[in-house]
Amino acid sequence: MEPSYHACAACNYQRKKCAANCILRRHFPKGKTNVFNAVHKIFGVANVTKMLRAANSLADQDEIAKSLYWEALSWAKDPVRGPYGAHLQLEDEIRVLQERLLFLEKAERRPD
Ligand SMILES: [Zn+2]
Repeated sequence: MEPSYHACAACNYQRKKCAANCILRRHFPKGKTNVFNAVHKIFGVANVTKMLRAANSLADQDEIAKSLYWEALSWAKDPVRGPYGAHLQLEDEIRVLQERLLFLEKAERRPD
């Protein structure tokens, strides 16, 4: 655990003191400035804080933080479609793999 005098990336950005019970500290520690910046750019600190506070457990908070980061990266990669672009890409991959599977199943059924 970092000494308490190091503000987390979120508090450092907001230029405020990082309290010992800062809800953002766990997910955006001092060394994760790039992660915080990506998430903050898309969702904003207030919304991220609100979503983390709504979680029922630390495990859920971790999942929320990972999910927000993934979505923020999706928007950085594809500013037009964001996560929907990733979804479309996965649909294409599934279609290609299903076609290959069908081809291989047909080839297996052919008599020698
Ligand atoms: Zn903090």
